[in-house]
Amino acid sequence: MIGLPTDPAPWWLAIALAGGVAFLAFRARSLSGDGALAAFVVGGLGLIVSWAWGIFLIIWFVLASALSRIGRDRKAVRTQDIVAKADRRDAVQVFANGGVFAACAFWALTSDPHSATVTVLGVAAASALTAAGADTWSTEIGTLWGGSPWSLRTLRRVPVGTSGAITLSGTLGGVVGALTLAVLAAVIGMISTSTILAVAAGGIAGAMADTILGAWGQERRWCSRCALETERVVHTCGTTTDYLGGVRRLDNDLVNALCTLVGALVGCALAEIGSIL
Ligand SMILES: [Zn+2]
Repeated sequence: MIGLPTDPAPWWLAIALAGGVAFLAFRARSLSGDGALAAFVVGGLGLIVSWAWGIFLIIWFVLASALSRIGRDRKAVRTQDIVAKADRRDAVQVFANGGVFAACAFWALTSDPHSATVTVLGVAAASALTAAGADTWSTEIGTLWGGSPWSLRTLRRVPVGTSGAITLSGTLGGVVGALTLAVLAAVIGMISTSTILAVAAGGIAGAMADTILGAWGQERRWCSRCALETERVVHTCGTTTDYLGGVRRLDNDLVNALCTLVGALVGCALAEIGSIL
C-alpha cells in the first residue's frame, strides 16, 4: 500500500489545503458559502488528525462532486419536482454527510495518536464516508442512467428522484462506489487492508439504511396545485406543500446523517468480528 504519513498535517498547511479545496468548490458552485465554511472545518479537522484522513476526505469529496456534475442538466430536469434541494450543497448537507467523520476526527484528536482507539476511529470515519459515498454514487448513477425506479414502500414505479426507490443501475453503482472508496481508504493508509471489506460492507449497509428510511420514515409532502408528491416544503411552482406521510421533519439531511452513523457502526462491528476470526 502507498500509505500516506499517519502524521498530522502542519496546522498552517491544513488551513491552506482545506480552505483552498472549500474555496474551489464554492467557485465551482458545488458548495454554497456556508457549505464551503462547513467543508473547511470538516476538512481541516481531518488533516489535523493525519494526512491519510484529510486526503481521503478530499478524494471522496472530489469524486462525489464529479459524479453530481456528470449529466447535471439531464438529472435536474428528471428530478426537479421531487428533490428537496439543488446540488449546491449547504452547511446542513455538509454536516449531514461529514458530521460523523468530523466527530470521529475530533475524538481522535483527543486520543493518543498511536492508540487502538484511533485505529478504530479510522475504520468508523472511513465507513461513514463510504456510506455517504455509496448513497451518492447510487443516487447519481441511478438518476442519470436508471429507468423509472421502484418504490420499496409501494412496490410501484415512481418518478426519478423519489426517496426510498431503487433502480438496478443505481444499486450496482452504490456497491461499486463502496468498494472503490474502501480500497482507496486502504491505499491512502487511513485503514489497514484487512478492514477493506468491513468498511465496504459498512458503507453498503449505511446506503441500504438510507433507502429503507427514505421509503418508510422520511417525511413526504403533497403539492395540491400540481397534484404531485414531493419532498419540498415549498414546491417548484411556489405552492406551500402539505404533510402527506412519514415522520415529520425527518428530511433527507437527517436520513443522510443516520446513513453515515449506520455505516460507521456496521463497519466497526464487522472489522472487530474480522479481527477475532
Ligand atoms: Zn406544485
